Amino acid sequence: MFDVIRIPAFKDNYIWLLRKGTSAVVVDPGDARPVLEILECEGLTLSSILVTHHHADHQGGVAGLLAHYPAEVFGPASESITALTRPLHGGETFCLASLEAEFRVFAVPGHTLGHLAYYGSGRLFCGDTLFGAGCGRLFEGTAAQMHDSLRQIAALPEDTAVYCAHEYTEANLRFALSVEPGNRRLRQRVDEVAVARAKGLPTVPFSIALEKATNPFLRCREPELVAAAQSRVAAANDAVEVFAALREWKNNF
Ligand code: ZN
Ligand code: FE
Repeated sequence: MFDVIRIPAFKDNYIWLLRKGTSAVVVDPGDARPVLEILECEGLTLSSILVTHHHADHQGGVAGLLAHYPAEVFGPASESITALTRPLHGGETFCLASLEAEFRVFAVPGHTLGHLAYYGSGRLFCGDTLFGAGCGRLFEGTAAQMHDSLRQIAALPEDTAVYCAHEYTEANLRFALSVEPGNRRLRQRVDEVAVARAKGLPTVPFSIALEKATNPFLRCREPELVAAAQSRVAAANDAVEVFAALREWKNNF
């Protein structure tokens, strides 16, 4: 089993470094500098780079890393990814020999159309799809696509550790609580996250079980959330329409 090291980048991004022995793999290196510092400091060799989608804060550091290490670059076949050597599609699996790990690829369109998530060893690296108590904005895909992507993720084992690419949980919880104030587990999470953030601790990774209990975007059939959505959009009847209404509401929250 590999270790996962969190590398903060920019204002609120996380780059995830997967390590086994002296081998390292990074997920979504938006910036090369903090990754190079850790690799040098820990005496690690970078063998592979995984990219979830084309946004600069997820792949802007690829070229800078390749200038130091001849790593393979895995990413969505349908997006423009720097120096991509292993184009991937949803449903595929691939092995990372340096980590002795196999990963399953999920197509999770919504934030971008080609967005992928990587699942292996009980961990999910999902970029800007699922966030703590929230989800990515719909820049390219439709609400139906994102809703379906989140459903696929929610179907993973409850104890899956989810590594998303941004520390957005605290702000997301403010919205979640405003639309589902009757959710006790949600109120408890608000308190837990406030304590963690006050100490400067991360809220990522989190479990699928926790998200299913507290993330409004995974709870579009809950009566309290349906009623909240209908207070904004009268025609929000099925789960996708409720999801769309909540996503739009959150954009302006
Ligand atoms: Zn993005
Ligand atoms: Fe991002």
